[in-house]
Amino acid sequence: MTGRVTRLGERAWTDLGGRHTVLLPVGSLEQHGPHLPLDTDTRIAAAVARRAAEDDPALLVAPPLAYGASGEHEGFAGTLSIGHDALRTVLVELGRSAARWASRLVFVNGHGGNLPTVPDAVAQLRHEGREVAWFGCAVPQSGTHGGDAHAGRTETAILLALDPSVVRIEAMEPGNTAPLAELLPTLVRGGVAAASANGVLGDPRGATAREGEELLEGMVGQLRERLGRWLPDDRGRLG
Ligand SMILES: [Zn+2]
Repeated sequence: MTGRVTRLGERAWTDLGGRHTVLLPVGSLEQHGPHLPLDTDTRIAAAVARRAAEDDPALLVAPPLAYGASGEHEGFAGTLSIGHDALRTVLVELGRSAARWASRLVFVNGHGGNLPTVPDAVAQLRHEGREVAWFGCAVPQSGTHGGDAHAGRTETAILLALDPSVVRIEAMEPGNTAPLAELLPTLVRGGVAAASANGVLGDPRGATAREGEELLEGMVGQLRERLGRWLPDDRGRLG
């Protein structure tokens, strides 16, 4: 029941008279190697938002935006990108619309390629006087389970925690494991296809649901804490 109460799409408009903070997951539909589904980023953003909203009646989770800016993944079948201009327009319009009835709106972003458009859109909305912020579902590169770039151990572990039935264990194989800083010039020039034939940046092998659960709970805890503090920086990032 709790889950249903937080889902904006399942509410009636007459339920929504009080002060609400809307969490709107922002994802992508792009290749995630041979072993993960195309909607990996959307699943992660939606799960972080859902878990953060549990047991807090003031929080509502909007249906996720399932498309983002994925130009760097063109060249792989399945990728559907709306590009940065369209993404910016969608986010700004959603922000203006939400601000007509909700007290606050937070974009919970699951796809690094949507930057810097997410903070750009949020900065515009804040400039217009709206209480909008954003949160990035990112795993620090250092630490026990250091985050890797794309479809590697980090995202594989999180998907194993969320729904192991969508992870193709037998198809897991390493991609380009060079550090992101080293890969960046190639990525900028030719996208992910130029750096990795299978689309993976990192190595998914050995990922476990248990470490995925820890990573998820880390992001959820961070989002909860930052929602409580509500201290968006000048680019609207919840800090
Ligand atoms: Zn991803």
